[in-house]
Amino acid sequence: MKKINILGTNVCMVDMAGAISKVEEFLAGDKANAVFTPNSEIIMSATRDEEFKSLLNSADLVIADGIGVVYASRILKKPLAERVAGFDLVSNIIKKSADGNTSFYFFGGKPGVSEKAKENLQKEYPLLNVVGTSDGYFDAEKEKQIIADIKEKAPDIVFVCLGAIKQEKWIMEHKDELGAKVLFGVGGSLDVFAGNVERAPLFYQKAGLEWFYRLMKEPKRIIRMMDLPRFALKVIKEGKKYPQED
Ligand code: UDP
Repeated sequence: MKKINILGTNVCMVDMAGAISKVEEFLAGDKANAVFTPNSEIIMSATRDEEFKSLLNSADLVIADGIGVVYASRILKKPLAERVAGFDLVSNIIKKSADGNTSFYFFGGKPGVSEKAKENLQKEYPLLNVVGTSDGYFDAEKEKQIIADIKEKAPDIVFVCLGAIKQEKWIMEHKDELGAKVLFGVGGSLDVFAGNVERAPLFYQKAGLEWFYRLMKEPKRIIRMMDLPRFALKVIKEGKKYPQED
């Protein structure tokens, strides 16, 4: 699969349809695959953290979760077709796998969130096969129990929603022992399925302004979002220095 190197992070050049078929390919295979969904803040974190950067680069599918990443690809003259938000990708996978033949495990969020996400999704898709849930706050002992639970329930797909960096590290550390085919690092997705957090209205999503909507809703995000202009400047100033494959 073709990739674009954005400040050292390799992002797959796929649109939504391509990402969905890649996940279907993973499900038909026999190894564990990691799917990561970086936005510009995460790519900025990777520029400051070599270990995290190599974690991102060892994933099996890395999609452009944020519109900033799509703009960066245009600046680098290797345009990505579209933004593939992690939440939209997992929503599509759920829709396509709602016949009960694919099993899911929801891991992450505050206590009760993954159960509520399961309940809401099963109202919409009664046959959806969610074999287990667990919250994302754990010590070493509880983590062992969570791992044992995932192994026992043997899901095909695990949503790991522990927030950026923590979830990617967790997935890479444990993916091969769990027996699942696809592990998605999809941050706050369970909160959205649970109805605790709202996605921006379609107008903002289509206009590439979801970040602005979230900033209005949660002004304290401004600190994190300062990485957005830094990211844009860095791509303009240094982006072309990073080697691109043909
Ligand atoms: N979360 C978790 N365990 C943790 C930290 C965070 O399960 O130790 C969950 C949190 O409840 C939320 C999700 O991870 O549902 C995303 O967290 P956050 O908004 O901090 O991260 P982001 O993905 O926006 O960077």
